[in-house]
Amino acid sequence: MKTLRLILGDQLNHSHSWFRSDDADTLYFIAEMRQETDYVRHHIQKVVAFFEAMQAFAEWLQARGKQVIHYRLDHPDNTQKLGTNIANLVHSHGIQKFEYQQPDEYRLDQQLQQLADDLSIESEAFDSEHFLTGRDELARFFDGKKSLLMESFYRHMRRQHNVLMDGDAPTGGEWNYDKSNRKKWKGEPAIPHERGFRKDVRETLQRIEQAGVQTFGQIDALHFSWPTTREDCLKVLRHFCTHLLVHFGDFQDAMDPDETYLFHSRLSFAMNCKLLHPREVIDAVIAHWQQNKDTISINEVEGFVRQILGWREYMRGVYWREMPGYARCNRLQNHNSLPDFYWTADTRMNCLHQAIKNSLEHAYAHHIQRLMITGNFALLTQVHPDQVDAWYLGIYIDAIEWVEITNTRGMSQFADGGLVATKPYISSGSYINKMSNYCQDCHYNVKEKTGEDACPFNSLYWNFLAEKREYFNENPRMAMMLSLLDKMDSEELADLKKRARQIIHAPDTF
Ligand code: FAD
Ligand code: SF4
Repeated sequence: MKTLRLILGDQLNHSHSWFRSDDADTLYFIAEMRQETDYVRHHIQKVVAFFEAMQAFAEWLQARGKQVIHYRLDHPDNTQKLGTNIANLVHSHGIQKFEYQQPDEYRLDQQLQQLADDLSIESEAFDSEHFLTGRDELARFFDGKKSLLMESFYRHMRRQHNVLMDGDAPTGGEWNYDKSNRKKWKGEPAIPHERGFRKDVRETLQRIEQAGVQTFGQIDALHFSWPTTREDCLKVLRHFCTHLLVHFGDFQDAMDPDETYLFHSRLSFAMNCKLLHPREVIDAVIAHWQQNKDTISINEVEGFVRQILGWREYMRGVYWREMPGYARCNRLQNHNSLPDFYWTADTRMNCLHQAIKNSLEHAYAHHIQRLMITGNFALLTQVHPDQVDAWYLGIYIDAIEWVEITNTRGMSQFADGGLVATKPYISSGSYINKMSNYCQDCHYNVKEKTGEDACPFNSLYWNFLAEKREYFNENPRMAMMLSLLDKMDSEELADLKKRARQIIHAPDTF
C-alpha cells in the first residue's frame, strides 16, 4: 500500500503523530506553488519565510529517513497547482491512498475536499494536531447565545485547560488585567534586542524573483531574522521569556517610531506555520514566570496567555463558524479605496508613515499599530473591507486568512456588525498621542480639529460617528460618544465634516 501525504506550508508540525507512525510506504509531499504565491500579492519576506521553513522541514523529515518529494518553484514537474501536482504524483508513483491534514483556510479546505472526491483512490483527512480547540468548538460553546463575547470563551478555555487557575479561581484573583496594560513607553525600560540568527536567504529570494512572483516590501537577504526552523523558533521563545515577558503586559498597547517590536514576542509566524505549538508557548511562559515571580507580575503573563489561549483560538472558531459568508460582510457599507500610501508609506501623517514603513521594512507591525493606526484610518475613511483585507493578508509575515480576516473584517473594520468587537475600534488623534510619541514629530497638530494643520484623525472621527450613527444607535457602548455628537455645535460639526470629506476624497494628499 503506497500512501501520499500532503504537507502544506503552514503545517510544519514536528510533533504530528504522522511522523511517529510506521510510514515506510509513505511519500511526503511539500511544494512551493504559484497557486499560493499569487492568490494575493504578498510581502517578499512572507514568501521567503514560508519557503525557507518548508525547506527546513523537508530536510528534517529526510534526516529522519522519510521519503520526501519537495517541489521548489522551478522543479520541472511542478505544475504550480495543488490539484494537478497531486493527481500527477498519484499516477506516476502508483499511489493507492491520499492523506492530508485539514487545512486552516476555507479556500484550501474546499479545494482538498474536491480533490479527494475527484481522485479515484481512497483519501483521508487528519487533524493538524495544532490548535487547542476543534473547528466547531466555539460554535458549540456559543450555541443559542446572542453575542460571541471573547471574555467568556477565554474563561472557558482557562478552566478547560487548567491554565492560570488556582482550583476554580483565576490565579491572582482576576481573570483579566487589561487595565494595567496601557502604559506609554518613554525610552525606559530598555528593550533587549534579539541577537540570534541572521540568515542568508539569497538563494530562496533569487528563486522567487526568477520565477517572476509579484511581491512587495523590503528584505535584507543576508541577515534574514524571522525564525524558520524549529531551533530558531525555540530561540525566539526563550528570548521572549527571559527578556521581554517582564514588560509585555505593561507596554502591550504602546507605540514608538524607533522600536519595531517593543516587548512583543514575534512568535506569530512560528505558531501560524505550526513550528511551535500554542500550548508549548503558554507552558514555557508560565514556567518562566513561576520561577521568577519576584520580578514578573501576573498582569504580564495573563496578558500574553489571553492573546494565545483566548484571542487566537477564538478567531479560529469565529472563522469556521462564519465562513464563507464572512469574507463578503460589509455591514457598514464602506466603499472607498485604500489610499496609495498604504503601499509606500508616503504620507505626512507620522503615525501612518511610521506604522506602514515598519510593515514594509519588516513584514510586521504589532497589534495596536494594526488596529489603532492603519485599521483605524481605513475604517474612518470608510474603505471597502475587501481592499483592507487584501492589504493585511499580503503585508504581514503571519497573515493566514483564518486569523487575518477575523482580525481585519471583524475586530478592526466592524464589517461583521459587531460579532467580534462590541464597538468599533476608532479614535481621534488624542488616543494615538496618549499611547505613542508619533505626534510630536508630525506635520499635523493633534490638538486641532479643523484647519489646514489639524490632525486628520480628529475630523474623521466625528464625521464617522455622524455618517454611520444609524448602525450604532442601539449600541450601549457607543451611547456616550453619540450623546457628545448630539451636543456638538452644528457649525462646528459642519466644519469637521467638511474637512473629513476633503481627507476622504484625497487621502494621498495628506
Ligand atoms: P504578541 O503581541 O507577542 O502576542 C503573542 C501572540 O498572541 C501572537 O503571536 C499571536 O499568535 C497571538 N495573538 C495576539 N493577538 C491576537 C489576535 N488579535 N488574534 C489572534 N491571535 C493573536 N495575527 C496573526 O497571527 N495573523 C494575522 O494575519 C493578523 N492580522 C491582524 C490584522 C489586524 C487588523 C489586527 C488588528 C490584528 C491582526 N493579528 C494577526 C493579531 C496580532 O496583531 C498579531 O498576532 C501580532 O501582532 C503578532 O505579533 P507578535 O507575535 O509579536 O504578538
Ligand atoms: Fe497621527 Fe494626528 Fe498624531 Fe499626526 S497628529 S501622528 S496624524 S495622530
